[in-house]
Amino acid sequence: MQDMRVSDMFSDDIAIDLGTANTLVHALGRGIIIDEPSAVAVRSRGHSREIMAVGHSAKTLAAREPANIELIRPLRDGVVADFVATEEMLRQFIRRSKSMLGFRRPRILICVPAGATPVERRTVEEAARGVGAREVYIVEEPVAAALGAGLNLDDGRGAMVVDIGGGTTDIAVLSVGSVIEARSLRCAGNAMDEAIIRYVRRQHQLVIGEANAERIKIEAGSASRAQDGADVEVHIRGQDVETGRFKEVVLGPSDVAVALEAPIADIGDFVRRVLEDLEPEIAAAVVDRGITLTGGGALLDRLDLELARRVGVRFHVPANPMHCVVKGSAAVLERLSEHGHLLIGG
Ligand code: ADP
Ligand code: MG
Repeated sequence: MQDMRVSDMFSDDIAIDLGTANTLVHALGRGIIIDEPSAVAVRSRGHSREIMAVGHSAKTLAAREPANIELIRPLRDGVVADFVATEEMLRQFIRRSKSMLGFRRPRILICVPAGATPVERRTVEEAARGVGAREVYIVEEPVAAALGAGLNLDDGRGAMVVDIGGGTTDIAVLSVGSVIEARSLRCAGNAMDEAIIRYVRRQHQLVIGEANAERIKIEAGSASRAQDGADVEVHIRGQDVETGRFKEVVLGPSDVAVALEAPIADIGDFVRRVLEDLEPEIAAAVVDRGITLTGGGALLDRLDLELARRVGVRFHVPANPMHCVVKGSAAVLERLSEHGHLLIGG
């Protein structure tokens, strides 16, 4: 008996949230051990391509040597756009987890976007087996998000989770512990950054890059134009597209809210469409319970209120919305017998 307890405590299992923007690894009994961008640095020579680094170090390397190193986001649009890069990234993160923890052959649960094809899922699964996983399980992202957000999936009422990541917004409706509807929209954090780029160009004749747009969103972003005088602002410098002169522009939350109106409207419409297509009793339960908002996009100031205004349903943002998926994945892995029905192909 005593032996079993000890092995439970140090069970060598990991759960992985393979996101379009960020990859997180949670080791059972220890918590999050990796939280890095889903990025791969590649050096191309003629026809050959060499993978130089993954995660944080890939970003650093690409920033230091922009002429030689290309930064690839292998899951950018929520699908495995670059199989080789995805495989290598996953392999390196798993290898690193194993060396941190001294695991020999861990069981690995990987969470993939709800829209992933069987071929994409197989890529992920084979990469994990290739690094010596004893067992590989796959779970859909929004299911994990729901569990990680602390939703009770077994009370027989419908529940809706809207996960706004980098590449995609994923909606799942769950009832009695299983997924009854899962849909994905290619409009999320990246689309918000692109909307800010367009806005700054249109309003201020200034060209800014994606990294700058994301910084503006995170530092001074808001989903609502109505601001209560909290005067956060970001200063951006750049070259005027017409005159070529350098200038500085100051943006505040209400400017960003104007810039983000289109993607937020798209996300709101998407939620409404899914709600409309549900069986009336399930829809009523969702409306009654409120909708859970997870993923990095949930951190945008007042997004919950703005979506509530557009959809007519309350939205809840749990603590640490960016950790819900990996926490939920770890919960599935911890109690596989109980949650086995949530696995794909399980
Ligand atoms: P994925 O699951 O696709 O990897 P994440 O859930 O990690 O995505 O979320 C990443 C997205 O969240 C990025 O587009 C990032 O810009 C955005 N994000 C992170 N923090 C904030 C914030 N405070 N406000 C708005 N967006 C944010
Ligand atoms: Mg995610």
